[in-house]
Amino acid sequence: MSGPQELLRRVLGPAGDDAGCERTLEVLDEYVEHELAGRSAAALYPDVATHLAACPDCGQDRDALVELVRLREMG
Ligand SMILES: [Zn+2]
Repeated sequence: MSGPQELLRRVLGPAGDDAGCERTLEVLDEYVEHELAGRSAAALYPDVATHLAACPDCGQDRDALVELVRLREMG
């Protein structure tokens, strides 16, 4: 099977537990803000949490973003 649906699925990743790189990067700043605010980002975005655990690239982006937000908050 191919076509737009299949392409979308491949780009966005499987519709299951793993959000995939595309969606993870889309919500990553929100995710990090929740995390730093002491809220459970993993409960709000379980698929993103799963992806971050599985994808070193996105994990690095997350770490960088955490640094960035921390620096910004230190003013
Ligand atoms: Zn990724």
